[in-house]
Amino acid sequence: MNLAQINSILPLFAAAAYTMLLVSMLLRPRREARVQWFSGFLVASIVWELFLVLLASNRFVPNLPSKALASATLLLGITTALYVDWPQQRRWLIGGSSALLVAFLLDMLPVRPLFSLEGSALLQPTLGGLLSMLIWLGLSATILVKTWRNYQHTRLPWHANRLLHWVVFVFVIFSGEGLLFYDVPWLNIAGQALRFIGVLGLARAVTSHRLFDVRVYLRRTLAFVLIVLLSALPATVVLIATLWVTDRLRLDPATAYLIALLVIAMGFLLYQPFRRLIERAVYRFLLGEEFQTSQIVRNYSKAISRTLDVEQLSLVIIGTISELLETTRGALMLASEDDAEYTIEPIPALGHLSRQAKRFAGGSPFMEMLANEHQPLLQYDVDFSPAYSTMHDDEREWLAKQAMEVYVPVHTDSELTGLIALGPKRSGLPYRPNELELVQVLADQTVVALQNARLYSELNQQHERIRQLNVDLRRQMERLETLDKVKSDFITIASHELRTPLTQVKGYADILMAMNEDASLDQGQTREILSHIERASTRLETLISAMLDASQLEVSGMQLSYMHTGLEAIIQLAIDPMAVAIKNRRLNLELHGLEALPSIYVDFKRLVQAFQNIIGNAIKYTPDYGTISITAELVASADGETDYIEVVVADTGIGIEPQYHDMIFEKFFRIGDPQLHSTGSTKFMGGGPGLGLHIAKGVIEAHGGRIWVEDAPTGGSCFLFELPGIPTFAPLDQPD
Ligand code: ADP
Repeated sequence: MNLAQINSILPLFAAAAYTMLLVSMLLRPRREARVQWFSGFLVASIVWELFLVLLASNRFVPNLPSKALASATLLLGITTALYVDWPQQRRWLIGGSSALLVAFLLDMLPVRPLFSLEGSALLQPTLGGLLSMLIWLGLSATILVKTWRNYQHTRLPWHANRLLHWVVFVFVIFSGEGLLFYDVPWLNIAGQALRFIGVLGLARAVTSHRLFDVRVYLRRTLAFVLIVLLSALPATVVLIATLWVTDRLRLDPATAYLIALLVIAMGFLLYQPFRRLIERAVYRFLLGEEFQTSQIVRNYSKAISRTLDVEQLSLVIIGTISELLETTRGALMLASEDDAEYTIEPIPALGHLSRQAKRFAGGSPFMEMLANEHQPLLQYDVDFSPAYSTMHDDEREWLAKQAMEVYVPVHTDSELTGLIALGPKRSGLPYRPNELELVQVLADQTVVALQNARLYSELNQQHERIRQLNVDLRRQMERLETLDKVKSDFITIASHELRTPLTQVKGYADILMAMNEDASLDQGQTREILSHIERASTRLETLISAMLDASQLEVSGMQLSYMHTGLEAIIQLAIDPMAVAIKNRRLNLELHGLEALPSIYVDFKRLVQAFQNIIGNAIKYTPDYGTISITAELVASADGETDYIEVVVADTGIGIEPQYHDMIFEKFFRIGDPQLHSTGSTKFMGGGPGLGLHIAKGVIEAHGGRIWVEDAPTGGSCFLFELPGIPTFAPLDQPD
């Protein structure tokens, strides 16, 4: 049987082989879309092979084989689109099949070949034939170029390898098909063989995610060829030189043979060490160096045993590994288990990474695998292995965001305490098995250091918590001390405040009595003495009523009698009694926004009292020529229903230190020495009994509002309060 005969029946064998491959595809339990389209491609390939034998020279519809080939390529294109995940797969299908249909129709017309073409069974140069050849060529080239582009833009090496694998085998198929266009038997046989190898490679890719590392295979092959060439070259040169020399010296044959024999023997002796040298050089150049594992592990253990801080530990671990393996990205990730759910918290070390922790659902295949198996897990497996197909989308997204290539578990005997996550290597090559083994060994060494670091960080957190508690405690103690002092001050203040007017009343009454007995009292003197008595008793009355108000606040809260009124009227009434003092002390009083407010429903008298206390304070604690401003505005609340009125009373006075901002609203609290007060109600720095703000606060809060103090931008203090507006506050059944 000669080559031509073999060639003529080869398509039948190829068809049988493709049929077997097709059956194996159809017998698979899981047939994903890409496997189905690939099966379609196999069917088209079988038809094409049969056409090659049976219908190659049919006269009715020419070029049936090349059309079957173009259909096969179209189906391969769709399989590729699914495999690589290209968008718009439907466009491929519609575009390709319309072009094929046109080719068919063109060949249905009674046309003759455009020119004569000798020696191709696959193609007769009719319009339809040329079109189907163009379809085949265009589709094949597009598949190759597009997949190659995707390959170049894929950063993770195993993901890239998957595409490279596809490109290589599509190229093999494409070249095999190309050879079949020539009618040379041995080229055809080679073409069929190549095509079949290519199809086998693609069949592997569509059915399994475990592919060999194409680049490493290519490098190994290159290394092998280089080693053979480099080690054979010197031997050949020496042998030729020996022959040449013996020939030149015209030695007798026996001596010549002896010399040649000696040279060969020498060659044998030197060959082994020489070859080993070359091997080592070539492997180092092409495949990288081998590790001195024990030395590395020793240095690593030493480095991490000195580290007690988790961040520092992450830096040391990833730093060491990246120095060894030239990783571009990496992190130590802390794992903690709670109710079968794992939380993973990355501690970034190399590359830009967020510290955001992620909770993995109980039974997540990713965590299960890492917790139960003692081996690294590739991101590639997570993406393509069916074992991880049940993973939640949010977990997938989080992992994709980490952009890591491999996760190596750090285990104690019973639990997973962390992961060492490594990104792609600088070379773009995948991690080799021995590299992964080394990282796993290093991960095992990390267990104790990681536990220590976690304990240390927990201890630090506890320490920080205790420190914070201490600070809080000290602050509370200071507050209590101050309030305690207020209590004892109260006796001093109250007795002083009460005694001063009482002494005045008693003193003037005595004078009145004595002068009356002497009968030396005229009407003018009586009036003056009585006015002093009146002023002192008013002061006494005010003080006692303030004390009563304060105690009422404590016992039953404040009883309010509501009415409709305007804030402007309230403030005007509060200011009136102080108008003379404001004028005398040359204070500047500014009112803003009062007239624009809606009417409010409040206890008129109580609010006047509250404003008197606050404005009175502003007058007391602002030096002469200062400014007091009262601003009010209606503020819409967030829910749009309960609008409220905000009032700001700001002064340019002495201000209040921040640590007293809360305390000044306490009963009897006053800043400064209780002995140094005066009872003047409008005099600069004239102190009172420390009840004014307490009562004002009680009034505002009884209305459902709130009051607080801030530092005024003008340097003094700034009292702010909010009063709920009318709509929600006024009961409808209460008249004005
Ligand atoms: P008093 O009756 O003594 O004025 P308050 O309750 O009204 O008591 O005020 C308590 C303390 O708050 C005052 O002793 C004073 O030190 C401080 N204070 C109140 N208002 C002002 C203000 N506008 N500027 C500075 N300090 C103020």
